[in-house]
Amino acid sequence: MRRVLLLFLLFTVIPARAVEKVDSLPPGKASDIIPAPERVVIKEGFCKLDSGTIIKVTQDKRIRPEGYRMQITRKSIAIRCSDRAGEFYARQSLRQMSRDGRLNKVECCDIEDSPRFPYRGLHFDVSRHFRSVVFLKKQIDAMAYFKLNKMHLHLTDAAGWRVRIDSYPRLTGYGAWRPQAVWKEWWKKENRKYADEGTPGAYGGYYTREDIREIVEYAAQRHIDVIPEIEMPGHSEEVLAAYPELACGGVPGGGEFCIGREETFRFLEGVLDEVIGIFPCEYVHIGGDEAARERWKACADCRRRMEEEGLKDVAELQGYMIRRIESYLNSKGRKIIGWDEILEGGVTPGATVMSWRGTKGGIEALKNGNDVIMCPGDFCYLDHAQDAPFREPESIGGYLPLEMVYGYDPASGIGSGDGEASCEREHLKGIQGNLWTEYVVDDAHAEYMYWPRAIAIAETAWSRPDRKDYPNFRERTLTALEILEANGYTVFDLSNEYGQRKAFLTGLKHKGIGAKVTYARCYHSHYPGDGDGTLTDGEAGGWANNDGRWQGFLSDVDLTIDLGKVTDIHYVGATFMQIKGPEIFLPEKAEVYFSTDGKNFTLAGASFNELPSDTDARLFRDFNIVCNQSARFIRYVARRNPSVRGWLFVDEIVVN
Ligand SMILES: [Zn+2]
Repeated sequence: MRRVLLLFLLFTVIPARAVEKVDSLPPGKASDIIPAPERVVIKEGFCKLDSGTIIKVTQDKRIRPEGYRMQITRKSIAIRCSDRAGEFYARQSLRQMSRDGRLNKVECCDIEDSPRFPYRGLHFDVSRHFRSVVFLKKQIDAMAYFKLNKMHLHLTDAAGWRVRIDSYPRLTGYGAWRPQAVWKEWWKKENRKYADEGTPGAYGGYYTREDIREIVEYAAQRHIDVIPEIEMPGHSEEVLAAYPELACGGVPGGGEFCIGREETFRFLEGVLDEVIGIFPCEYVHIGGDEAARERWKACADCRRRMEEEGLKDVAELQGYMIRRIESYLNSKGRKIIGWDEILEGGVTPGATVMSWRGTKGGIEALKNGNDVIMCPGDFCYLDHAQDAPFREPESIGGYLPLEMVYGYDPASGIGSGDGEASCEREHLKGIQGNLWTEYVVDDAHAEYMYWPRAIAIAETAWSRPDRKDYPNFRERTLTALEILEANGYTVFDLSNEYGQRKAFLTGLKHKGIGAKVTYARCYHSHYPGDGDGTLTDGEAGGWANNDGRWQGFLSDVDLTIDLGKVTDIHYVGATFMQIKGPEIFLPEKAEVYFSTDGKNFTLAGASFNELPSDTDARLFRDFNIVCNQSARFIRYVARRNPSVRGWLFVDEIVVN
């Protein structure tokens, strides 16, 4: 059955703008649309957009959920869809073709479109730094424009509880406030305290019921679900500060709830009752990540629980809690999402797993029959820097430019055949971009981190892989960023992107390539690079210490390179990096020794560090010597700065 649902004048969706010399502007193009639609056929001519333009919307049950067909002719625009979301997305495509109302005509075309995945999410860490309702609504506007449909609010964490719970008023009356506004100041061990609401100078904030209603309704009008996250059993220092009786022994000493005590479950069920009362979304995210389980081992209540329930270790104790909370939420008609740690204690098939520690957890969960949302840190963590460190504000580190976000395929590593593999693909629900805000203090910085990378998340979540093409996406994104900027968003300047470290891209040529390296102090097993050949393979590291090309040492670097024969040497050098967050520092100095027999070495020269260790800037510096000597063996020693110690990271010993 077909039925005309709505007959709208176009200006109800496209704000009329005063555009000078409108007729001289070109018609808007379907090739501007982000995410790229499934199929577009361009026709002759264009359709004028003004108050007289007719948009006819017809319901057609054959169209896939959230999908649409849009036919733009010279005279009118016809949209067919099976649901309201489909109509909404057709209108977003039209908005994009008109460059959000900046063009007054669009080319004639037929568009067939529907999303690849039903879950297209963006995550907001409002605990570490609080964001206003106005900010969230502004991001909802941009999300809708790019057809993102899930807003994940990380409402609770050590740094502050952000939603008012009437039955536990101290969560926001105390747990939402702290003396330091900037997270990294507050996070220093001696500073990690909370404050009563109203304390002069206290930083914090929380959403009231009315605030949540406003956000949820605003999002719903734009076909976006708002998913609340209430963290458990870890990351809950703020709760235990407000209600110490929920910690093991009644004494807070970490971020974990006591799972032995019934009070904990009374508390969580009470909180969740109120949360589901204000968040209508079918999902509640229950966290589950990074719980330190040590205190449970020593807690009499936790041990009794383990005995009574036949739980063999603390991982199973955590699993007990997650399953009990899941079954409580299920009884209220809700489903849980949890970070991939929830797999460790065993979950029911009804739980949805968010795979953040790479994709392994997600793939395992798919095999178990769980729904999965992929958000592996290497591709979806928007708190990583998006350009060269000397261009970027302080961040947690890493390097995740737009192209890397875009290049991720959530289905990679998942079987492509029929049977089991097709079942696994069925459970892959989508992807999400996550922005943790340890170093993201203000709103403008947060927007800068989201846009444009959230647009790459949107296209990966919506468009089929065969529709993806980075150079083309980049062009469309440049246009989209102009529109976002004109609408008051702070965005990354993609047109001026510096990109990856040049040596990473070009490689290094030098006399030491392929030479055998003998380590007097071994590199750390977490950062081996490619093993013993890493420092003489001609491959330079990039901006991120964890890109596989850097070798990490928790000691001095002390190694000997054997060139195989006596060689004329004019230069020996290596690049080290400094990133304060993960405690990677430049060495205090590097020394170079030469030998012809591998036994008797003489000092050829040294290179000293003059850069500070207490800077937030990420530094890359060469420690080298210039000489005119012959040798077969080169011993390179980099000494840690004794006042900071930490890590040394080096990517290549260059010999020329
Ligand atoms: Zn306990």
